[in-house]
Amino acid sequence: MCRHLAYLGPPVALSSLLFAAEHGLAHQAWAPRDMRGGGTINADGFGVGWFPSAGGSPLRYRSAMPIWSDAALPALAAASASGAILAAVRSATVGMPVVETAAAPFVHDRWLFSHNGVVRGFPGTLAPAAASLPIEDLLTLDAPTDSAALFALIRHRLRAGKTAEEAVAGVVSEMSDIAPGSRLNLLLTDGERIVATTVGHSLSIRTTADAVLVASEPLDDHPGWRPVPDRHLLTATPSDVTMGEL
Ligand code: GLN
Repeated sequence: MCRHLAYLGPPVALSSLLFAAEHGLAHQAWAPRDMRGGGTINADGFGVGWFPSAGGSPLRYRSAMPIWSDAALPALAAASASGAILAAVRSATVGMPVVETAAAPFVHDRWLFSHNGVVRGFPGTLAPAAASLPIEDLLTLDAPTDSAALFALIRHRLRAGKTAEEAVAGVVSEMSDIAPGSRLNLLLTDGERIVATTVGHSLSIRTTADAVLVASEPLDDHPGWRPVPDRHLLTATPSDVTMGEL
């Protein structure tokens, strides 16, 4: 169910993560290796968000089509380089619309967000949490999906002054209580740090001297990839990674 990744470090071409890597995101879209809990391929859309310059605003390109079917993307991805990238390929949860606006990353201000998983019992289970949101946030959801609603809940906590870690961990804990059995692998970045969770799905991390890459599945066979244990919260910058139980 969905595959996603986030990168921070020296600028790299988007294509290095999407296409050039042996098991890059486009390969993970049609030949994923670790789709825990359902789904076979990720053909219900894709998206990539990136910061063209440090400190600037993010750009996003997304589509409801399979990533391998977009004729414009390979050249666009080869020509665009960035030091902060978040990308995803989607396998829509049954009952949720297959539309461009349901494809991650979701974007607000400097934040890029992706969700790999499902909120069990959506929308009923999520409704009590959504009741705390300003009506305007509900009226401007990107799509009527669990992932878009989770981003609204996280943004609300950020607005209230929570740190990214607090906002993400708080929403995961609330969802785990009100919608048991939910799968909540979240990725959030502001271009400076990545906050990620593992609840029910795979995630791996690879660090080098000046970069960090977090992905649903390793992009290649390099021995430097490490799996992130389930039910963990990870915060990563190019120079520092912290990980703890949720
Ligand atoms: N539930 C989300 C959606 O339908 C994410 C799906 C997934 O991880 N496969 O968009």
